[in-house]
Amino acid sequence: MGYDVTYFRNLEDKKLLAIARLEKRILLTKDRALATSGREWAYFVQAETVSEQLLELKRTFHLSFPLPPRCPSCNEVLYDISPEEARKNVPLFVALSFSNFKRCPRCQKTFWPGTHWQRVQKLCQELLDG
Ligand SMILES: [Zn+2]
Repeated sequence: MGYDVTYFRNLEDKKLLAIARLEKRILLTKDRALATSGREWAYFVQAETVSEQLLELKRTFHLSFPLPPRCPSCNEVLYDISPEEARKNVPLFVALSFSNFKRCPRCQKTFWPGTHWQRVQKLCQELLDG
């Protein structure tokens, strides 16, 4: 969605909050006790489904969608590359099917509007309209 996000699954609560504070992030959690102990560094997400959660975050933090896409591995903002450039790195059928390609400045992975990208954009559009 274009936001700078760090994702953890198995860290202790205290460490999570320390990271949030250190990196000036807000910890998003479904754990109400953790959110309470984190005070201004944590936020208790109430909605259950992903789209409702995004809508909740959009309203709470006044987010705007969509921002430039980021690399799912490195979190870097992707930049546009030409189809000629992309052709060297993607399967032939992808090179022939798409004209819009992006690359991650860190890991050099190439991205194109596949099904995941389209799903995210559709979701963003619904959020903008909603
Ligand atoms: Zn990357």
